Formats: sequence, C-alpha cells, structure tokens
Amino acid sequence: MKIKDIFAQKTVFSFEVFPPKSTSSVDVIYRTLDELGDLNPDFISVTYSAGGSGNSSLSLDIAEKIKSMGITPVLHLPCINYTREQIDKTLTEAKSRGIENILALRGDINPDIPPAKDFRYASDLITYIKSKGDFDIAGACYPEGHLEAKNLDKDIENLKIKVDSGADHLITQLFFDNEYFYNFRDKAAKVGINVPIEAGIMPVVKKQQIERMVTTCGASLPHKFVKIMQKYEHNPDALRDAGIAYAINQIVDLLASNVDGIHLYTMNNAYVARKISEAVAGIISV
Ligand code: FAD
Repeated sequence: MKIKDIFAQKTVFSFEVFPPKSTSSVDVIYRTLDELGDLNPDFISVTYSAGGSGNSSLSLDIAEKIKSMGITPVLHLPCINYTREQIDKTLTEAKSRGIENILALRGDINPDIPPAKDFRYASDLITYIKSKGDFDIAGACYPEGHLEAKNLDKDIENLKIKVDSGADHLITQLFFDNEYFYNFRDKAAKVGINVPIEAGIMPVVKKQQIERMVTTCGASLPHKFVKIMQKYEHNPDALRDAGIAYAINQIVDLLASNVDGIHLYTMNNAYVARKISEAVAGIISV
C-alpha cells in the first residue's frame, strides 16, 4: 500500500527501526519486528546507511520481512555517497521485493567519504526516483531548521523545492518542544507546502540517548525536559518511564492540534513502542 493513500484515510501512526550493526543480531531485530507488528502500525520504516557504516542490504531484508508480516514497509534511501547505478540497483531490488514506499534522503556528509557527485540534495534523488517508476516518496524535514541551513525560512524554501520535486509527504526530525513543530507547520503552509507532515517523536529512555540526540540533530531541550532528565538520569527505570510519559504528552498535544501523523523513533525498543501505542490508541482515531 502507498503511504499517501493511508494519509488520505486517517491520522497515520508509524514506527522507525534501524538494522543492527552486526548480522549476528538479526534474530533480535526480527523478534522486535514481530512485537512491533502486533501493535498494528500503519507502516514501519527502516533506516539505511549513508555509507561507511551499517549494513545497507540488511535494510532491504528487514523491509521485506515487514512486508511479509502484512505491514507496509518504507525504505529509507540516502543518496550523497551513492552513484546513480547504485541507487538504480537498490530501487530495482526494492521493487522486486514489493517495496513501494521510499524515504528519499541526502544523508549526512561524512568528511571521510567524498560524495559520489550524482546527487547533491534529496530533491535530486526525488526527481530521479519519480522518473524511475511508481514509488510513493517521503522526504525529511526539520522543525528547528536543518543544521546546515542559514535559518528556518531558508530551509523551508529548500523544502518547497523538495516537495515540488515530488515528495508525497514529509516526516520531521525529532523535537521535544511542540511549539517548534507548530511554528514550522504554519511557515510551511505559508509557502505552499500542502503535503501531509508526520511528527517524528523520539522517546528518550536512556541517558546515552540525550547527548547523542542533541549533538547529532540539534534539537532544543526545553526546561521541563532537562529537569526530568536530570532528576532521573541515575535511575534507569524511572528515566525510562519518565521518557515514555514525556513522549505520550507530546503526542496527545499533537493529536489535539490535528497533526497528520506520528512517526515514533522506536530505537528498536518494542516495550517502549507498546507502552506509547497503548496509551494513545484510544485518541489517535478520534
Ligand atoms: P536535503 O533535503 O538535501 O537538505 C540538506 C541541506 O541542504 C539542508 O540544509 C537544506 O536546506 C539544503 N538544501 C536542500 N535542497 C537545496 C537546494 N536545492 N539548494 C540549496 N540548498 C538546499 N540519514 C541516513 O543516512 N539514513 C537514514 O536512514 C536517515 N533517516 C532519516 C529519517 C528522518 C525522518 C530524518 C529527519 C533524517 C534521516 N536521516 C537519515 C538524516 C538525513 O540524511 C540528514 O538529516 C541529512 O543531513 C539531510 O538529509 P535531507 O534528506 O533532509 O537533505
């Protein structure tokens, strides 16, 4: 099923997983997928390494496994370090496995890997995928602006190019303060971006997640979030429960504000995804 058709029917609720670094953990991710599948998400997306690290062919295997469970998979596809031929190969492989939804990305620039030069921006990849067949295409967006962009307005100007190139819907970078999302959504609407925008929510349930998230994506940490993290950082169970509660609060507020969808960065943690899904199940379709 194409994701844009799901958006046409309902508020979308989806999960994101990533392939394990080592193939020895494949059984673990497959067990996690079984548990996530029981929660009946509208789709599960699978990250894909921009090159250098990770196991990209495993992303295709995981997407295929999701499909075999009767759930719609979305394959992330970064382009900056891949040639046109490599992208072609992945798209052909995806199509042959029945994967029809792609999250088209540029990928982070790795100073140790020179870009492959065929694609500079995600919008270049979107134009290319459009020319290659009948894929549903998602794009990434940034409620606080992408780290490389001069400011949010400039980033949204560039996002408009991405949407005009053929992105059917967007998924946001994680954020901890919903006001950034609402401000971004208003600005996007003003420049004529009218595709569905799913809010990316990351439940922070482990201490190590906090710093990593901020340094890699630049999300602002609101005072109430910092207070919670500081209070419980030395108590893993309390931190986990507080992180889940914080994410649920964010989601309830977003749903009350008519968000198009919620994309949960599960970090391959089925327990956390279950707690959140159960808490919002009764209100997601109201
Ligand atoms: P782009 O849309 O190309 O934007 C990159 C920068 O270029 C921005 O600053 C933008 O303002 C600017 N720009 C864009 N178009 C133009 C233009 N035409 N002219 C001038 N400037 C322009 N990375 C992975 O490697 N694998 C993954 O699986 C993955 N999954 C992700 C999932 C989500 C939901 C999100 C939000 C991010 C994900 N990323 C992933 C990270 C992503 O690759 C990085 O954030 C990357 O730095 C930017 O990717 P993009 O597709 O948004 O790039």
